[in-house]
Amino acid sequence: MMRKKIIAGNWKMNKTPSEAVKLVEELKPLVNTADVDVVFCPPYVCLPAVLDAVKGTNIAVGAQNMHFEESGAYTGEVAPNMLVELGVKYVIIGHSERRAYFAETDEIVNKKVLKAIEHNLIPIICVGETLEQREQGITVDLVRLQTKIALKDVPAEKAKDVVIAYEPIWAIGTGKTATSEQAEEVCAAIRQVVAEIYDASVAESLRVQYGGSVNAANAKELFEMGNIDGGLVGGASLKVDFSKIVNYND
Ligand code: PEP
Repeated sequence: MMRKKIIAGNWKMNKTPSEAVKLVEELKPLVNTADVDVVFCPPYVCLPAVLDAVKGTNIAVGAQNMHFEESGAYTGEVAPNMLVELGVKYVIIGHSERRAYFAETDEIVNKKVLKAIEHNLIPIICVGETLEQREQGITVDLVRLQTKIALKDVPAEKAKDVVIAYEPIWAIGTGKTATSEQAEEVCAAIRQVVAEIYDASVAESLRVQYGGSVNAANAKELFEMGNIDGGLVGGASLKVDFSKIVNYND
């Protein structure tokens, strides 16, 4: 089965609404013909402006987080139906920065994944190891466990559409990319655990991205690996050069 590649930009806490629109306007003509799913994930306050700016293009929009409750006394949080009403299609869940700075556990990630799916948002679930964990040789075990917990109680027909981003923490924002072999090994292990939880057909349709210092120079080699279905891109998604990552195949 040929999975369509998915290349998403995680803008993190960067860009005001007007800066966001400027970047979208610059990128639009450059990514519009790409045969991959392109997703921009700006900060919450930029979502309406970005959604408006991408109208009529092949670009989808994702949020960087959401709460797992429907509504209520959760000051500063954003509920899934708020994202849905805006027209948001994807939501990043369990990014390592959320896990590290905002105490998101695997169990919280699972709650968010279930809630996103209930609202027909496609979760981009982030998993990945620290440098210490890699050096201890526990990367695959850890990522398997993160994946299993994140997908707990997710039905097979929904799991098919889920995106999992393998993001080694030591590679995020460091300029230190995993080699294509390292990334492929873990992405293949993720697909394997998905096959064990569900079956081969779910594992064949679920997309696994690599993230961690992806740039225009290394994207092609990474994305050509058999189990890597695109990338989640941080720093390099904030510049017009992001179009070169999207068009890695040209
Ligand atoms: C990310 O934050 O998801 C990421 C991969 O960042 P960067 O590309 O900057 O390493």
